[in-house]
Amino acid sequence: MFQGLKIIIRRQKRLILIFLLTIFLPSVTLSIFGLIALRNEKYRFEQQFRDQQLEIIDSVKTEFNQQISELENELHSLVQTPSFINRDYREIYTLIENHLQKNPLSGQVFIAFNGNEPWFPPFRGGGSGYIPINVKGFSGQQKKILEQTENYEFSQKNYQGAITLLEELLKVTEDSNLRAQLLNHIARNHRKQKNYDKAIANYTNIIRNFPDSRTSSGSLLPVTVRLQLAECYLRSGLGEEALNETLQSFREIIRNSSNLSEDQLSAYVSLAGDKFSSIRDTYPEMISSDTTYVHDFKDLNLLYQKKVNKWKVISSLKEECIPDISLELLKDAEYGETAKRYSKTIGGEDFLILSFPIPDETEEMAQGIAGIKICNPFLEDSILTEIIRNAGWNADDSLTVTDMSGNVILGYETTSPNANRIALLFDENFPPWKIEVNGNQTRTFLFSAIFKSYYFWTILAMMAILGFGIVIIGRTISHEKEVLKLKSDFVSSVSHEFKTPITSIKALIERLLEGTVKDEARMKEYYSVISQDAEDLGHLVGNILDISKMEEGLEQYDFAETEFKGWLEGTVRKFFSRTTNRRYKIQTSITEPSIPLNIDKNAMKLAITNLLDNAVKYSSEDSEIRVSHEKQGNTLLVKIKDDGIGIPKNEQAKIFEKFYRGKSALDHSATGTGLGLTIVKQVVEAHGGKVQVESEPGEGSTFVILLPFST
Ligand code: ADP
Repeated sequence: MFQGLKIIIRRQKRLILIFLLTIFLPSVTLSIFGLIALRNEKYRFEQQFRDQQLEIIDSVKTEFNQQISELENELHSLVQTPSFINRDYREIYTLIENHLQKNPLSGQVFIAFNGNEPWFPPFRGGGSGYIPINVKGFSGQQKKILEQTENYEFSQKNYQGAITLLEELLKVTEDSNLRAQLLNHIARNHRKQKNYDKAIANYTNIIRNFPDSRTSSGSLLPVTVRLQLAECYLRSGLGEEALNETLQSFREIIRNSSNLSEDQLSAYVSLAGDKFSSIRDTYPEMISSDTTYVHDFKDLNLLYQKKVNKWKVISSLKEECIPDISLELLKDAEYGETAKRYSKTIGGEDFLILSFPIPDETEEMAQGIAGIKICNPFLEDSILTEIIRNAGWNADDSLTVTDMSGNVILGYETTSPNANRIALLFDENFPPWKIEVNGNQTRTFLFSAIFKSYYFWTILAMMAILGFGIVIIGRTISHEKEVLKLKSDFVSSVSHEFKTPITSIKALIERLLEGTVKDEARMKEYYSVISQDAEDLGHLVGNILDISKMEEGLEQYDFAETEFKGWLEGTVRKFFSRTTNRRYKIQTSITEPSIPLNIDKNAMKLAITNLLDNAVKYSSEDSEIRVSHEKQGNTLLVKIKDDGIGIPKNEQAKIFEKFYRGKSALDHSATGTGLGLTIVKQVVEAHGGKVQVESEPGEGSTFVILLPFST
């Protein structure tokens, strides 16, 4: 096998050399240069991508910083207002309320005047030094009467007596807060008498007519009154009313929570909660788990939780942040317009605080500090998200913002380590978060950039040319191998073809020379066999010579007008009379007495003879061979049909190739060279015609020669 390959390589030396020099070497060299260039391009693209990302991150940072600065400036101008300088609490309260309404980024404001507890507007409690609601108390005379009523109520249990006194006092009291408080006392005594209708009437009166009334401690009276009212309803068997009042009071507690201290808030909420439970115990069927009451109650509890969290934030600010910030800002007692951006992680949340010192009236000294704790959800979900979107960041998952503890605030966590990851901090490290861009984006960007690169396509083209060259060389080599095999098959079959008649001639001549053959008839028979063998040899040599002449284009055709019909029949008859004893039939559908056709008679005879030879060779001796000719338009068809072994479809295209011999032909062990049909094809084509085959294995074959003629 390698021997064959060596021969082929030797024979195709030039082709291989040309391939190496013109295709292989240039392609490989150019591809190597291309790859180097592509690598440089990759770096360039990476850099370009990095720059683009940095630009986007920069714009995000700038835009973000701007928003923070705006808030900072607002705080700055607030602390410089006369209200702050003069500690006008009421004014400050209004200013802060307005500020909070306009700036959802402001989560919590604090103000800490020197020497005072910090104040967290709108929360009024917490010992801020600001008591906004000034509730007028009872006068000395009124207080005396009140003491008497309390004596009736609590010591003597003389509720009616207490009611009469209170009603008299009510008549002479004008202040609405005090009136509401008296009504409350009256209702309480009615309740103690189990006179619920009257108690209900009084409580309802307070709610309707004194909605803003306060207790002596300043908290809203209707809130507690509603709970008492609910109790009365419950006692009177009016479950639904009781429930509505309880929920309503809960709502009002939440609504007014900024006016309450943390303890007051939780005390009121637990009162409302207890009432809700006792109603539920009394009317379980009314409050099944999916009624709107239950949902309302749950929602209110959630709101309460939020308030509790607010209080947590306030106490964290008070204990952990404000002292630090005060220390920093009030370092020098002198007032300076120094802002402080402060951040600290408390209980898993990053406290981001903007703060300023508050000047005193001389504007030379600082009299405290004011600050804003940024509202993280708003910062993350609105501000940052919006800025990132506006900066043109379209692949959300490629940008991640992580907080101080490494928690992802925006985007998705990227687990894969990537060299192309860019991580940046916010300006002034505020917030102290990291903005990261993961490298997956880079890869996509890189690929799309590389696909657009000229080098990439050059390399691809080079590879394609190389591949094409390799395919051609491969095909040439395999074709050569096939030819080599065919030739060796040819040599062996030709030698066999030669050997058989030569051996026979030699043997017969020896017998004749010995003089042992005396019988005249036998001698004649010997001579005729010798003559036949010699003719076969001649025929074989003729074929070989013809094909080589035809191949080299040396064959000279000698066309002459011939009466084809008669000539064909004569040629066929002669073939059969001389060579075989086979049955044959000649048929024609042509009615004209003569069809003149320009042919080279010798060449055409060779073609016809070769087809007849094959028909004889590849069919059984007792079968008939039929030759027919007919006219179809301007074409003359000569058909040679046998009932022999037939030709499989896949071989039909190949049988006209030089040296090709069919597999079943070889199995049939018929002698042959694989040249016959090649000659037929060459001759017929030289006459401007075509040769076709129709055949099925085992069903015989029909070869058709189609010759054009002009009428
Ligand atoms: P050869 O007959 O010497 O093998 P040819 O060129 O005449 O060479 O024919 C090529 C091949 O075509 C044969 O080997 C055989 O497989 C097939 N063939 C040609 N004529 C016939 C036929 N009449 N019947 C069956 N097979 C045929």
